[in-house]
Formats: sequence, structure tokens, C-alpha cells
Amino acid sequence: MAPETQAGPANAALPLPPMKWNAWGDPALAKELSADIKGLLVAALGVTGDAAPGPSAEEVLLRPSRITAEDLKALAAAVGEAHISAADADRLPRAGGKSTPDLLRRRSREPQDAPDAVVVPGSEQEIAAVLAVCAEHRIAVVPFGGGTSVVGGLDPERGGLQAVVSLDLRRFDQLLDLDETSGEAVLGAGLTGPAAEALLAEHGWELGHYPQSFRFATIGGFAATRSSGQDSAGYGRFDEMVRGLRVVTPAGVLDLGRAPASAAGPDLRQLFLGSEGTLGVITAVRLRVHPLPAVKAYEAWSFPDFATGTAALRAVEQQGTGPTVIRLSDEAETMINLAMTEQIGGAPAVSGCLAVTVFEGSAEQVAARHDLTREVLLAAGGTSLGEEPARAWEHGRFNAPYLRDSLLNAGALCETLETAAGWSALPHLRTAVTEALTGALPGALVLCHISHVYPTGASLYFTVVSALGEDPLSRWGVAKRAAGDAILGAGGTISHHHAVGADHRPWMTEEIGDLGVRILRAVKAELDPAGILNPGKLIP
Ligand SMILES: Cc1cc2nc3c(=O)[nH]c(=O)nc-3n(C[C@H](O)[C@H](O)[C@H](O)COP(=O)(O)OP(=O)(O)OC[C@H]3O[C@@H](n4cnc5c(N)ncnc54)[C@H](O)[C@@H]3O)c2cc1C
Repeated sequence: MAPETQAGPANAALPLPPMKWNAWGDPALAKELSADIKGLLVAALGVTGDAAPGPSAEEVLLRPSRITAEDLKALAAAVGEAHISAADADRLPRAGGKSTPDLLRRRSREPQDAPDAVVVPGSEQEIAAVLAVCAEHRIAVVPFGGGTSVVGGLDPERGGLQAVVSLDLRRFDQLLDLDETSGEAVLGAGLTGPAAEALLAEHGWELGHYPQSFRFATIGGFAATRSSGQDSAGYGRFDEMVRGLRVVTPAGVLDLGRAPASAAGPDLRQLFLGSEGTLGVITAVRLRVHPLPAVKAYEAWSFPDFATGTAALRAVEQQGTGPTVIRLSDEAETMINLAMTEQIGGAPAVSGCLAVTVFEGSAEQVAARHDLTREVLLAAGGTSLGEEPARAWEHGRFNAPYLRDSLLNAGALCETLETAAGWSALPHLRTAVTEALTGALPGALVLCHISHVYPTGASLYFTVVSALGEDPLSRWGVAKRAAGDAILGAGGTISHHHAVGADHRPWMTEEIGDLGVRILRAVKAELDPAGILNPGKLIP
């Protein structure tokens, strides 16, 4: 699958990020909502009509760039004039990520923030030179991968410095090494998911990391945010696949990860996995890869309720029966699938709660894991729905984000948030978060699913839909604060895979404690003494 490309604002001097600047993904795949669904939004959520259209790229008002001619000259000396731009057309597509607040900001006709310039280095030496210029000229640096952050990780914050540049990693786009004996590949940080998989597939290998943002997010971004993909039950989270990392920091270059396992002190790779551009710029990642699976099997299930389904997923994971994908939607999400099947081509609806299982590997492995899993799910109260709903889920699995833009156009706010906790804490966590969201947004529809499971617990992923109403940014801010407080109060983590960015930073002290925060600050002071790397993110 090739990464989709599409036109962005005119007059850009640099290659543009492949995603639309004010919406998710490829505009050719966006679909307007049917009249039936619009009617449902009015009846169920009190939506009062289509939202006012946002500005075109030419109409957007960006705050003027604060980069000086001297800054530009020094940066051009570091990367070459062809790889730097302060044009609005280049600043706009790197103005932020793709959370709903980001999309609402892009729709505003008020002046918007954007990085003061964009720099596109082509080597580690060039990155080191850019960081040196930025430290000297007091310029903040926001590493930019695929631009899919949903936590304000790309907010163009200057952090008290003179200016801020977006450092786009797109030129780090190669398969640098493939060790077929060890099953390891070294991939450039700027490769998107499809580009990385295409390079590996040429040699018969696969990474198997499929977050919903797969088509646009990058290898460096996956590492910098501790991403988790939909096949996590089989292949693990992205951080579990990482064997080594190269990182350029203002204090020097680190090459971490020497052997498949090591007792040589604390594992420094873990410091940079999830560092979200605050400690260094990841340029390459050495990853565990596996041969392309010979066989895939699919089976969907129905459970009478979420509690029964949750217990079934726990049994599968604790007994280690080996599905590659296992996920469970609650009653509301299962029901909404019916209304949305035509829109997104996802799994058709069933009564109760829909679960999807997928198995990959050799024919023997797949048959054995499938049989074992089926036995456990049957014993736990599941009813098989055959393979079709699971295949349909896989077919439509990257399409749902387009729906958010259609909902926004139709006057409905749609946003997601996620957490994780031990199995025993999950029921209360789910109730607490749902009540916090509906308390802040009365009448909102809150959907939930489990898509990442561990022997000791699982993640909960919430989707919230409500009428856009007046001042949706502030109203969502209130709901998000209530949900974050509920998550920490109920024993969850502030993020299982979306990361911290600016949006979850207020909860970091509660998450890791005062001493934990001081450790992160001390590491940052050592690596980034001028404080140029992604200020205002992750570290309180
Ligand atoms: C519709 C949608 C669905 C999503 N689904 C999932 C999902 O299923 N699972 C999941 O885990 N996440 C998901 N996300 C969140 C997001 O895709 C991930 O956080 C992703 O890992 C970010 O990768 P990126 O390349 O887009 O990074 P960016 O968004 O460009 O950057 C994210 C953060 O990492 C930093 N960064 C990026 N590259 C580097 C680098 N090379 N070195 C240092 N720092 C860097 C940035 O400064 C920023 O702070 C989703 C987001 C959207 C919008």
C-alpha cells in the first residue's frame, strides 16, 4: 500500500505532509454523512445543523513568523536553502496534529499559531547542526513525523524562546539494514507505516504495527509516542518491537541497544521511547520483524454484555491462546457499527457486544491458535458469528477517522480518549470515565472498546459524540479535564498509547510523582541544556 498524497496549500516551497492540513487523511476518501445519519444526529444528540465552513488554506490567518533573516541564514547553512521555508504554505500543514481540538482550531477564522519556519534535514550531521543553531539563536524545535499526534505533541510552542521551527523527518526514509538471520530491520524515522511495510515486503518481511493512524504516522513517531497497533496481541506494542535507536540530542548522538537483551544497567532505550521529541531527535529504529504470514484466519463473536466479553478476552490472554488481533466493542459501539457500516465499510452490527479475532502465521500455528481461542470464547459465553464480520472490520479499519470530519461538518463533535488498567480495575474505570464525560457533555453518546490486552489488564478506548454547540473547544476542554481526573482517580494511566504531549501534561505529576518529574527534568537538563526540544510537552 503506497502512502496517499494530495495537494495542500499553494505556493509551498517544501514537499508537503501527505495529509490534508485541516482534516484527516486523503480528502478523496472523505464521505459526507447520509441524510438518515444526519437525522439520527438531530434526534439523538440535538445537533442543530451543519457547522459553518472553515477558511480555505488561502483564507487562514496565521500569526506572522518570528524567524529573523539571521536565523534563516544560519539554518540554511545547516541544511541547505532548498530545505528550509518560512512560507505560510509550509507552516500551515505543520501547525499541529490531528486531535479534534486541532481540527477545530484549523476551522477558526481567528489568527492561528504555526511554527515560524520549517526545516527538513537530510542527515544526522544536519540535525546536529540545526540543534546547535537553535540553541545559539534561542529557537525551539518541534520534531515532526507524520503529524498525527492527538495530544498537542506538535503544538508550535516557543517556551519563552525567540521562535519555533518544525523539524520534518521526511528525508529519513530508507530501509537501512535488514538482518534476515536475526529478524531485525533498521528503518529511517521518517518512513510512514505503508512505506516501511512496502520496503520490508520486498524481502518477504513485515513489522505488523497497524495503529489506526498507520497510513500517515512514521517509525520515529511510533517510537517517540510508544504507539500500540491493532495487532498488539500478536506482535506487541511498538516499544516491544524496538531493538535499538539512534538519537541526535543537543549534547551528542546516542546509539542505543546492543543485544536482544542486556543486564548492563538500566535500559536507556526506554528513556527515549515515549520521549516525544523532548530529549532528542530519533533518526533510525532497529526493529524486530517477522516473515510475512502465510495464512490468516478470522472469526467474529457476539457476547451478551461487555462484562461477559471482557472476562472472555481476559481468559484468552491469560491462557495465552495466541490471537494476533482481539478486540471487543461495548453495546453502544456495536450498535453504532450498524448505522455506520455503509459509511466506513466496517463490521456489520450484531446484538450484544461484538468481538473480533484474527490469527496469523503458518497454517498449523493458525489452526492451533484459532481452535484454542475458539474453545475459550465458547466456554466464556460467546456465540460465533463466522468470519465475515471480522473480515469486514479489517477491511474498514483505517476508515473511521474520516467520519470525524464528516461529523464535524454535520455539527457534531467527535473525539476519542484512552487509558489502561488491571483487569480488576477496568469495570469501575469504564463507569467513572463514562460518567465524567456525560456529566460534562449532557446527552453525549459515549462508546467504549477494548483493543489491547495483557495478562494483567487491558486498555479502554472511548469515543464521545455530542452536538457541537457553542464554543466546542472550551466545552471539550471541560470534558477532557473531567475524564482525565476520573482516569487517574480510578487507577488508570493518563495514556495507554496516545502519549502525553501538551494535553496530558497536567496529569504527569500525578502519574509519576514529584521525584519522577525531577528525574525527567534532570535528564532533559543534561541532554538539552538550552531547553529547545519541544517545550511545553510531556515534562511538567
Ligand atoms: C485518527 C487517529 C488514529 C490514531 N490511532 C492510533 C493507534 O491506533 N495507536 C496509537 O498508538 N496511536 C494512534 N494515534 C496517535 C498517533 O498516530 C500516534 O501517536 C503516532 O505514533 C504518532 O506518529 P507520527 O509520526 O504521526 O508523529 P507526530 O504526530 O508527527 O509526532 C508525535 C510526537 O512525537 C514527536 N516526534 C515525532 N517524530 C519524532 C522523531 N523522529 N524523534 C523525536 N520525536 C519525534 C513529535 O515532536 C510529537 O511530540 C492516532 C491518531 C489519529 C489522529
